[in-house]
Amino acid sequence: MNDRVLVVGAGLSGLVAARELAHRGVGATVLDREPRAAGRLATRAVGPGRADDGAQFFTVRDERFAELVGRWRSGGCPITTWCHGFASAPAVGDGPAAADTTGDGPPRFVVAGGMDGLAAHLAQGLDVRTGVVVEAVAREGHGWRVSGRGRDGGEKAVWRAGRVLLTAPVTRSLGLLAAGDTALPAPQAVALRRLRYAPCQSVAVALDRPPAVPEPGGVQFARGPVGWLGDNLRKGVSGTPAVTVHAAEDWSAAHLYHDPTGVAEKLLAFAAPWLGGARPVATRVRRWRHSRPTVRHPERAFVVRPDGGVAPAVVFAGDAFGGARVEGAALSGLAAARALTDPVLG
Ligand SMILES: Cc1cc2nc3c(=O)[nH]c(=O)nc-3n(C[C@H](O)[C@H](O)[C@H](O)COP(=O)(O)OP(=O)(O)OC[C@H]3O[C@@H](n4cnc5c(N)ncnc54)[C@H](O)[C@@H]3O)c2cc1C
Repeated sequence: MNDRVLVVGAGLSGLVAARELAHRGVGATVLDREPRAAGRLATRAVGPGRADDGAQFFTVRDERFAELVGRWRSGGCPITTWCHGFASAPAVGDGPAAADTTGDGPPRFVVAGGMDGLAAHLAQGLDVRTGVVVEAVAREGHGWRVSGRGRDGGEKAVWRAGRVLLTAPVTRSLGLLAAGDTALPAPQAVALRRLRYAPCQSVAVALDRPPAVPEPGGVQFARGPVGWLGDNLRKGVSGTPAVTVHAAEDWSAAHLYHDPTGVAEKLLAFAAPWLGGARPVATRVRRWRHSRPTVRHPERAFVVRPDGGVAPAVVFAGDAFGGARVEGAALSGLAAARALTDPVLG
């Protein structure tokens, strides 16, 4: 049997899983549709600056995650403590005068230069193929056949492996199995189909001078239409002023398919009191359809034996399994690698 594992998704869970598999002596190939490994740890240029589009920071609660973060740091990943809590305000329209800047929570960690630096760190030494849109996952002989093509719609490519790890949003992963005519046992299909995500509209804006976001450079709003404002210059992501604005979930859902230019204009108008008169020099919108899991599965890795249990395992992982956010995704990746190397699977 082909012992290699094919991992769909080079976000945090897929990369952590592939590294753990390598550590356990199992080779993996990681495929991702985007031009760079990162998933929701994306950081991108906006005009002369840079901005984190997805995850803004992370916290550490579980000791296994603390251990992982320690390993990343000692391996050279530039993880720093941003602060011990953000400013908070009832709503974006209240302006900086309403901000409470008492921060006494746990450390909020970031990656100098942008959260995607963590993905780049984890991808080192792994077989990661980016720009590959996986289209179907099908059973073949004693293993799996994964087919896809380049983002530009180029020629079809096929990979074969003994086991498959799916880390894309669950609805997409189910679509890949369906496209490969792979039937899941009914109870498991039902459990996976009930998982849900909330969307988030994110706008990155480069400014002609620093904004008026209070210390420490991030503010959370108790109610919409904006949920978060982050200053990428103060955070150490951008060399020039650049702010990330995240719409609240309700607003994001109501405007999900609206024209991105109009979405940017609206969100920047809401954020105006916090920009302190700084003028936009460039903007960029990122629509996250699957930003945060709202209905999660309790276990960190979900093992499926399709076709009535005769096929080798497919494992599902990601932040919809076990725990949300950066920490949950990383722990899910670890759990998936363990499940994939369990001698009773395969
Ligand atoms: C706007 C926003 C703000 C956030 N803020 C925070 C925060 O401040 N703190 C925090 O801890 N967490 C935050 N999160 C959540 C955190 O980013 C995620 O929990 C975590 O990054 C998820 O990792 P993952 O591996 O589960 O999924 P993902 O990162 O989504 O990885 C899945 C990967 O699968 C790939 N993929 C999908 N379909 C295909 C296909 N057909 N073929 C090939 N590849 C495919 C995608 O390109 C993606 O790279 C935020 C997320 C968003 C979107």
